Amino acid sequence: MKKVSISIPAYNEEENILAFYEQMLAYIDQELPNYAFEFIFVDDGSQDKTMTLVRELEDQDARVIGIQLSRNYGKEVAMAAGFDHATGDAVITMDADLQHPFSSLKEMMMLWELGYQDVYGKRTTRHGESKLKIAFSNAYYSLLNRMTKEQILSNVGDFRLLDRQVVDALKEVRESTRYTKGLYEWVGFRKIEFQFEAAERFAGKTKWDFAGLAKLAIEGITSYTTRPLKLSTIFGFLVSLSALMYMIFVGIDTMINGIPGTGIPTLTILVLFLGGVQLISLGIIGEYLGRIFIESKKRPLYFVNKKETALKEEHLADGDQTNDTVL
Ligand code: UDP
Ligand code: MG
Repeated sequence: MKKVSISIPAYNEEENILAFYEQMLAYIDQELPNYAFEFIFVDDGSQDKTMTLVRELEDQDARVIGIQLSRNYGKEVAMAAGFDHATGDAVITMDADLQHPFSSLKEMMMLWELGYQDVYGKRTTRHGESKLKIAFSNAYYSLLNRMTKEQILSNVGDFRLLDRQVVDALKEVRESTRYTKGLYEWVGFRKIEFQFEAAERFAGKTKWDFAGLAKLAIEGITSYTTRPLKLSTIFGFLVSLSALMYMIFVGIDTMINGIPGTGIPTLTILVLFLGGVQLISLGIIGEYLGRIFIESKKRPLYFVNKKETALKEEHLADGDQTNDTVL
């Protein structure tokens, strides 16, 4: 019997965990009785009762595995922890908020059995997401794809089934500013799409805000391609070339028409424009340099908190801070 791991990154999902577990079991028992399963809940440093609930499920059901990360590392790292701990022949990553429908699992498994190694879900409709977010997302993907060889598909997320081989490949990629969507493309393997309708969040609010998405977007570009560095070189050449031509023009103009007026506005504009271009280029270099700095430290991706975290009540009440360093 083949074993399938379902990996669920969860950050403050106390309202969703139990509903997720129950609906998942109901579906699996009914539709996929010929597979063995394991359910890996990766608690990404939640501050609510998520982990307590997962530990309770662990006691009831031997197939449940709870991994508690030592703090909130973000979904990308939580997913990596899921891959690291999964032992199945295939791993399916699903959101804990029930936005990924269980009804797609059967189709995913069928495609996997046909020999596909990366079965990825494409959202046909996005319920409960603002028009603005969708417009930004589409614009971003067209920009990203103009810069990279491998196509990163818009509306394709982390709801996917990966064969053991793909998981093993992903496990070898230990970069800490992760853009997993780029990694799926980069590691390759035989891919196929299935479509699903993303439901609305069952309970709670999305963890993404605009700043978070912008950060992920910049990480996506800088971890995936060095094209922006080339762009600033090209732009530098263009500006220098036009400056050169302007210089020649001014020289000839002066010979014919004599010394012109002060030209202060022109100077101001040129200085500001070039200053801006230089700062942007520096900023782009800085993004890459920052990534080199972070990666060169070779820190582990995450730490797992193996001990029960529930502190003793009286301990908490005392506001015990003996472990803190006093500066
Ligand atoms: N998530 C996580 N760590 C985070 C943020 C989110 O593990 O720092 C999980 C979250 O619990 C959920 C999934 O990632 O299971 C998707 O998050 P969310 O629903 O907030 O994102 P959206 O569906 O709006 O893209
Ligand atoms: Mg969600």
